[in-house]
Amino acid sequence: MITKIIDEKLIKQLLAFVEESDKIVITCHIAPDGDAMGSSLGLAYVLEQLGKTVKVITPDVPPKHLMFLPGAKEIIPFSKYEDFAKKLCEKADLIFALDYNAIHRVDRLGPSIESSKAKKVMIDHHEGPEPFCDLTISYPEVSSTSMLIFRVLTRMALFPLIDKTAGTCILTGMMTDTGNFSYNCADPDLYIVESELIKKGVDKVAIYNKVYNEASADEIRLNSFALAEKMKLYPAQGVAVIDLTRAELNRYNYQKGYTEGLVNQPLRIPNITYSFYLREETDFIKVSARSKGHFAVNDICARHFGGGGHLNAAGGEFHGTM
Ligand code: 5GP
Ligand code: MN
Repeated sequence: MITKIIDEKLIKQLLAFVEESDKIVITCHIAPDGDAMGSSLGLAYVLEQLGKTVKVITPDVPPKHLMFLPGAKEIIPFSKYEDFAKKLCEKADLIFALDYNAIHRVDRLGPSIESSKAKKVMIDHHEGPEPFCDLTISYPEVSSTSMLIFRVLTRMALFPLIDKTAGTCILTGMMTDTGNFSYNCADPDLYIVESELIKKGVDKVAIYNKVYNEASADEIRLNSFALAEKMKLYPAQGVAVIDLTRAELNRYNYQKGYTEGLVNQPLRIPNITYSFYLREETDFIKVSARSKGHFAVNDICARHFGGGGHLNAAGGEFHGTM
């Protein structure tokens, strides 16, 4: 069995909220990654088995490479169906905030969540949760929100409802937030949960191939260009910087998700301890940061780029020119 970490009072409160609710909305952060999508879709699936009406709303359109996840095609991106998404939030009895700790992380979806009379529940693993929910289940020591969802559902006695479908979503989030179990992966419980999910029929190899092993020619060429031509190293400071301008991204028909993982590459060089990737969007520059060891990139992103994240993986925005 896995260790018990979630406070019993939180589980009791959550059970009461779920019991009282029929219409449930699940939200996650902008530019959803495997964990945001996996935790949301996994929870949605299980709550649907309980007879609830559940909708997953993402702030923007999810990346193509995660559309293989069960239920992904039913997601309602706020940026695309704003009026419908607003109505769903307004009519919801319960709104989940998954894989984010601050309302600004859902961008323009924020006001619809804040003004809704629904009970709000955060389940998240980022440090310093902001108090915008009625119930906050925040465990930064857990490597992914998807792992937390597994823990929460199990504690709610819903383990039997985690089948291959829900398990595929959950294992995807566990995998992507640990770089396929290569960092934040010292928790032995990860492997017990992984084993349980595989026993339920989840195909780990298939998930790995979808998430890490499929790319278009443009995507491969863009990453090669970025590393060959745009990676600047500052060995004295132990830092690497990669920047990609709009024109460069357009040259390779950039799509969301194409440069996922690019920022990690320079950290393979022994003396490089932190790495920045700057991507020019239409009205700001997206900053992604990674580090090895104790170098806190979330601090840098919070102080200089209005962002945050984890010690070794963070991001933010720079409002200025490249
Ligand atoms: P990525 O570099 O993959 O976009 O983001 C890495 C991690 O940094 C995310 O999982 C998230 O925790 C955090 N992060 C990325 N962008 C932002 C941002 O704009 N604001 C905040 N608060 N966190 C971010
Ligand atoms: Mn996460």
